[in-house]
Amino acid sequence: MRFILLGAPGAGKGTQAKQLIDRYKIVQISTGDILRENVKAGTPLGVNARSFMEKGLLVPDDVIISMIEERLSKPDCSNGFILDGFPRTVSQADALGSLLKKMGLKLNACVYVEVPEEDLIKRLSGRRVCNSCGESYHVFFNKPKNEGVCDKCGAGLIHRKDDHEDTVRNRLKVYHNETHPLLDYYTKQNIVLKIDGTGDINDIFKRITAGLEA
Ligand code: ADP
Ligand code: ADP
Ligand code: ZN
Repeated sequence: MRFILLGAPGAGKGTQAKQLIDRYKIVQISTGDILRENVKAGTPLGVNARSFMEKGLLVPDDVIISMIEERLSKPDCSNGFILDGFPRTVSQADALGSLLKKMGLKLNACVYVEVPEEDLIKRLSGRRVCNSCGESYHVFFNKPKNEGVCDKCGAGLIHRKDDHEDTVRNRLKVYHNETHPLLDYYTKQNIVLKIDGTGDINDIFKRITAGLEA
């Protein structure tokens, strides 16, 4: 199984991906997580990406495309993958198309997770993420068992700098202008699975798996 999770920041892509990888025994490829690991480790890639990320702007396409090319060549992708937060521009989608063609692979679906804007703002401003494994939580909607501590790995939770309200608005604008057009792009390829991304996390998971397995 190979598919894209498309949706605005805060739509629940990461949350769903964490359950979907167990179901299908595939890997999650989150460009945001890879970038944050590089920022934390202070690599040249991270140093370059950081200023874009803090402002809520997209990291340049060439950087992201070579990152994905390297990631998809790893052996753990052979059973399938979920692309979470990639592609985010038409030019990234074109590059992905060429790359998959070269590898002789096809996407099964582009799962579009739809959530109204007012919910996105509430979700992002209350999001807390594990500083070690990247798991997301929410101060009201998806609390960890112990406040401030990751259920999965025990590390501390942080409030991402780009989840503060001013940056959130900027990211939503960038999403509308740069990423939302991909819905049309993949609709033309006939692979869009539209999912109502509101309500209970497990109900959304069931909607996605039912759609993928139909
Ligand atoms: P969210 O899950 O809230 O949508 P991400 O973790 O996917 O956020 O991304 C955080 C930031 O990392 C983005 O605002 C952007 O700066 C950068 N980023 C992540 N993925 C991409 C991408 N595919 N293209 C360009 N920038 C990206
Ligand atoms: P994305 O990866 O699309 O940016 P996340 O999966 O990180 O989104 O989810 C954003 C925030 O919303 C997190 O705090 C998460 O715990 C919370 N969340 C995820 N799914 C739901 C849901 N169905 N209802 C309410 N909050 C949710
Ligand atoms: Zn963790």
